[in-house]
Amino acid sequence: MYEDGLPPLRDVIEHYGLDAKKSLGQNFLTDLNLTGKIARSANGLGGTALKDSIVYEVGPGPGALTRALLMNGAHRVVAVEMDPRCILALKDVESAYPNRLSVVEGDALKMDEQALIGDTEGRPVKIIANLPYNVGTALLVKWLTTKEWLPWYSSLTLMFQKEVGMRIVAAPRTKAYGRLSILGQYRAQAKIMFDVSARAFTPPPKVTSCIISLTPKVELDHSPKQDILEKVVYAAFNQRRKMLRTSLKTLGVDPLPYLKAAKIAETCRAEELTIEDFCRLAKIYEA
Ligand code: SAM
Repeated sequence: MYEDGLPPLRDVIEHYGLDAKKSLGQNFLTDLNLTGKIARSANGLGGTALKDSIVYEVGPGPGALTRALLMNGAHRVVAVEMDPRCILALKDVESAYPNRLSVVEGDALKMDEQALIGDTEGRPVKIIANLPYNVGTALLVKWLTTKEWLPWYSSLTLMFQKEVGMRIVAAPRTKAYGRLSILGQYRAQAKIMFDVSARAFTPPPKVTSCIISLTPKVELDHSPKQDILEKVVYAAFNQRRKMLRTSLKTLGVDPLPYLKAAKIAETCRAEELTIEDFCRLAKIYEA
């Protein structure tokens, strides 16, 4: 038994026959010290403490992160899981923490999170998850493109493949800089907190992972409409080796007057533009 009175994760996996399914992106964590570190890394993000927060978790699996969140004092955890085998295994965690954990079966991509969480009683919501890699980016897009800004959550603490994490935090003029960097940094402060070795997972994935934190920005530069910004960024990076005077033609307009008005040299390439440049350009294109 562990200090929460529940069995070690390896026993839970064996007892409930949780053979990892690749189609569900299942790589389970089994070390509660590591998941404790992940849970605590969300402390203070967005100016809010874990113990005062409601946590929205995607893909709790056998429950290693869920248990750490509860042990580290999360007020309540609402988790969405697609695999019914895991839902069964999580019943024991629900019983160990009465009224503090609710697990819902379903696809996180389709969830109305706020409806699911219900009355927050004024508490902040943190999203903390070891995401299934096959839908991780789609979920990040969903959470960073909400119509309302500020969004309904105060911080995101997410596990990604290291290579994806590097793209999210990348700076201009680097190879990793692209659409995901603009998405991650336009509305949020993004930071890699620490790496997680493949050996920490069962079964181990082929690559290193990392924990990323994203804190919503209160003030947005120029604030173009999200879909317009995305359109301009897509056009620019879709032909990233071409100069903007060429790549932006796919917007269906002559890009030169827009570039001039945004004070961007027509010979620049997408990777040379800062997020602020992209926002300025999108705002002018939107007008
Ligand atoms: N949190 C657990 C851990 O750290 O050990 C499991 C993480 S595992 C990488 C991803 C989990 O997400 C799996 O349990 C999988 O069944 C679940 N999952 C996959 N696709 C999902 C989806 N679209 N919605 C909700 N859960 C999903």
